[in-house]
Amino acid sequence: MTNNTQSILDHLAADHDAATQRLRDLLTIPSVSTDPAYAGDVKRAADWIEHDLKQLGFETRQIAEGGHPAVIARSTDAMVGDASAPRVLFYGHYDVQPPDPLELWTTPPFEPAVRDGKVYARGACDDKGQVMTFIEAVRAYLANGHRLPCHVTLLVEGEEECGSVTLPEVLDQHADLLEADLCVISDTSMWEGKEGATPAITYALRGLVYFDLKLHGPSRDLHSGVYGGTLANPANLIARVMGKLLDDDNRVTIPGFYDEVAALNDEERADWQALGFDEAQYLGDVGAQPFGEAGYSTLERRWARPSCDVNGLYGGYMGEGAKTVIPSFAGAKVSFRIPANMDPRKLAAAFEQWIRKHDVGGCRWEITQHGEAFPVATPTDSPWVAAASRAIESVVGRAPALMREGATIPVVADFKTKLGLDTLLIGFGLNSDNIHSPDEHFALDRFLLGCQCHAALLDSLASAN
Ligand SMILES: [Zn+2]
Repeated sequence: MTNNTQSILDHLAADHDAATQRLRDLLTIPSVSTDPAYAGDVKRAADWIEHDLKQLGFETRQIAEGGHPAVIARSTDAMVGDASAPRVLFYGHYDVQPPDPLELWTTPPFEPAVRDGKVYARGACDDKGQVMTFIEAVRAYLANGHRLPCHVTLLVEGEEECGSVTLPEVLDQHADLLEADLCVISDTSMWEGKEGATPAITYALRGLVYFDLKLHGPSRDLHSGVYGGTLANPANLIARVMGKLLDDDNRVTIPGFYDEVAALNDEERADWQALGFDEAQYLGDVGAQPFGEAGYSTLERRWARPSCDVNGLYGGYMGEGAKTVIPSFAGAKVSFRIPANMDPRKLAAAFEQWIRKHDVGGCRWEITQHGEAFPVATPTDSPWVAAASRAIESVVGRAPALMREGATIPVVADFKTKLGLDTLLIGFGLNSDNIHSPDEHFALDRFLLGCQCHAALLDSLASAN
């Protein structure tokens, strides 16, 4: 860390109360994106972000492709010390989840209150608090008369909580404004192992493939005494086919399913071992025991291996008591979580082929696919990961946890496919921050930690190139 960076970190600590007040201002705006009644407030939050960044000297604009506006702010050449410095795109969202149920909040969701060193409000952690960690880092450089170590573009959208519906269009139409070398997102949590919470760099996410299957049999529900045993029962058969998806080692039986899955290397496995994952707590909380693909640990199954789940299975008589019936149809909803480097489109085609090869006694499949998302993975030996690790270590005094996530964040795949960008997810939330729930909060010391880590990150990325 340079002296320059240390002075920025000191400035952030000294300015923490003012930064907290700015965050509280933003948190008073009820920018609930899912409910049209709040559309004016959503716009007001976009204006607030744009105004703040404009005052810092950024070239700003709001872009709406039919939905709530996204704020795009770009540093000017005069704001950046070195013209050849890397270009960082920061992504976050200013919209929030609805606050309901209101009666479960200790203080009103849009009247931010500080208790026990935490600010309580809807959006405190997800994601206004985390967006402001980055903006405060940038502000600290500029307020001190320094130039930014990197070219910085911010993309702060207003539709994340309702599915980022128009964001792909924004990326397609305005890719020129978003050109960068790396994307950074703060909308995730720190790693919480047996030894407490530590800042984390999430470098990979699983993708998703989702299917709705319906198996149609006789033209109407039939009496099982008259027809039972003489024709195909779609409920029996869909259960038989679903039962063949996984073998006794809990491996998916679709031919070629594992062919492209990126293998775990020994180093990654050892690193994850060292994270101190609390399996007993993870599974104990939901009253379950470890179960999954043979040969892998729980964390490996969750982060680096594909999974297949029947999300719903239905058909026939589902009321009280007995009704002897052969149903005219049965249905199943099936999803796959896919790690790097699986291709969701290839999987979708292979799954459909696999489904159709089974003998279902003349019943007819109706197969609908509900979207797909590519997995993403930034190589752990990338200079960006090394630079981000150095930055966090310089602030925290120990190396960050390098982790993957089992879930899917479609926008990260869009950054890769549409803008060619690798993404690092560096979040400062905790699972206990109640995001999407009453009494959402963000601890002010983690807010400061986030501001300082981003300030150090900008400096560190500048020397990564
Ligand atoms: Zn979020």
